[in-house]
Amino acid sequence: MFSLDGKVALVTGGSRGIGRAICVALAKAGAKVVINYAGNEAAAAETLDLVRQAGSDGEIARFDVADADAVDQAIQDIAKRNEGLHILVNNAGISLDQLLIRIKPEELERTMAVNVGGALWCSKAAIRLMMRKRYGRVINLSSVVGEGGNKGQAVYAASKAGIIGLTKTLAKEYASRGVTVNCVTPGFIETDMTTALPESVKEQAIAETPLGRMGAPEDVAAAVLFLASDEAGFITGHTLRVNGGMLI
Ligand code: NAD
Repeated sequence: MFSLDGKVALVTGGSRGIGRAICVALAKAGAKVVINYAGNEAAAAETLDLVRQAGSDGEIARFDVADADAVDQAIQDIAKRNEGLHILVNNAGISLDQLLIRIKPEELERTMAVNVGGALWCSKAAIRLMMRKRYGRVINLSSVVGEGGNKGQAVYAASKAGIIGLTKTLAKEYASRGVTVNCVTPGFIETDMTTALPESVKEQAIAETPLGRMGAPEDVAAAVLFLASDEAGFITGHTLRVNGGMLI
């Protein structure tokens, strides 16, 4: 439906879960996809195979999104090799869940460094290139808990609320340069991040979801594809809910 022919996309944390589904959706639409990964090269290579099966091409790129210098170097190299970078999907994220009274300083620091810092450093490096071409699409992965909060997820919720503020700010800063910045707030999606949760937590989440099921990574990928498309060119600073009605 949406064509991304001729576009180059970078998806952070693209080796599995929602990130992998986003890589495949963008590839099906014709984009060349750069799959960032933190450590699992075999999983990243599997995603690259899926990208190729989807009819496009791509490459894998290892870097830690929390490392500002590594991000800057990697994104410059990616843009040079691929003659540009049009789409950035800030998908990499971690969730270290604890009740407030048990949270340790290092858990706050690492979650903020990856979830907020990662999106910020990648956006900084990518938007600097995009603004020169007066075209860019940045899509950030926030979460339903960033909007509505959730018991046991104070740090994660704060980081995901931070993503919404970051999205709105960058949307205002770079609209005049042709760069749109939006975010999606997934509800409860079936990935490694959620399979580890106890059955009772999953049942509760499904009970709180009017559409009566967990989301699939592909549900989120479809929303990202839309925001990455030319058809979404007049949408910026938006938070698109993909939550089955969990928060309305
Ligand atoms: P996941 O844990 O399966 O995947 C996260 C990916 O990020 C992994 O590939 C991981 O290696 C990568 N990553 C983590 N730290 C990194 C770093 N420092 N540098 C580079 N890559 C790093 O999780 P998922 O469920 O696929 O989540 C993807 C995104 O969607 C995350 O931002 C998450 O917060 C968000 N989200 C997920 C859900 C859900 O229910 N699964 C709901 C709302 C939002």
